[in-house]
Amino acid sequence: MLVDQFQRKIDYLRLSVTDRCDFRCQYCMSEDVEFMPKSKMLSIEEMYRLAQIFIDLGIRKIRLTGGEPLVKKNIESLIKSLGEETRLKELTLTTNGSQLDKKYKSLIDSGIKRINVSLDSLNVDNFRKITRGGNLHQVLSNLQLIKNYMQVKLNVVLMKGVNDHEIFKLVDYAILNNFNISFIEEMPLGEIGYGRDKTYMSSDEVLATLQQNYKLSTVTTNSGGPAKYWEIKGYDSQIGLISPHSHNFCESCNRIRVSANGFLYLCLGQENKINLIDPLRSSQSNESIKQLIVDSMKSKPKSHDFNINESHKIIRFMSHTGG
Ligand code: SAM
Ligand code: SF4
Repeated sequence: MLVDQFQRKIDYLRLSVTDRCDFRCQYCMSEDVEFMPKSKMLSIEEMYRLAQIFIDLGIRKIRLTGGEPLVKKNIESLIKSLGEETRLKELTLTTNGSQLDKKYKSLIDSGIKRINVSLDSLNVDNFRKITRGGNLHQVLSNLQLIKNYMQVKLNVVLMKGVNDHEIFKLVDYAILNNFNISFIEEMPLGEIGYGRDKTYMSSDEVLATLQQNYKLSTVTTNSGGPAKYWEIKGYDSQIGLISPHSHNFCESCNRIRVSANGFLYLCLGQENKINLIDPLRSSQSNESIKQLIVDSMKSKPKSHDFNINESHKIIRFMSHTGG
């Protein structure tokens, strides 16, 4: 079991399989984002080897993310191999939903039961604007394709003057489809060409708005993640609020991240990282890579120090390390 210097048990890995994406969401990356050189990115085989190493060290949940994980070539084979790993309690995925029609069968076959799908707008033009080119109809029809096979949670980054007016429509859509829905506070990762403070909405503001329309009560069971969940009276759907700024959740952090170029990031909001791709490619043994990872736990920071006005402090975009 991996344990860090603050005695936090680390059993959750977010594996970014690519930094590429078919969308360019305005809050996530700049329009002219530069992607990693392909030769510096982990291959599917290297990702699988690394995942095995982490599972040996006690990782029990893996979320594939990106970039858009479903644009990664041969991602199906990684999903299949990880789906066969009996030591994992959960294998899951965060996606923008655009490619699900092509890939959902392999997700079902690999036993994926829960999936997060980002959906920031239900208006065709607004969706295209926020994602810089995304096709809302495609995503909505893909959601209908998968909804009987796996539990869906929608992820929304609510932004003032951009999509905050759609808040009730988004929740009603989730209710209608029996999806859960989480609202994520925007995080200052990378320069996106405008001040994030202009659009930032805190979870408290989101909650106050939601309470105008729905009767909400707190879910007391701990989800094990950073979201605080609310039940909506009369419906099965739950609302999650993910509040890295307003209600810091670092104390119970149980996760680490591997970027598509093979760096282990110990905190989403700090630069502490260790290079795993070079050891993997220099034919070091799994045992010596394990030791590197165990030693890195000493440098997992206590918390992030996000400040919404300071996007320059962390140069990488969210798509680099995965959400
Ligand atoms: N492409 C997939 C998707 O959009 O779901 C997976 C990767 S994306 C980086 C993962 C999550 O991070 C998405 O729900 C997205 O909305 C969120 N995200 C991206 N940039 C963010 C930011 N700066 N602050 C908060 N959430 C962000
Ligand atoms: Fe792509 Fe996801 Fe980032 Fe949007 S949030 S640009 S879909 S990686």
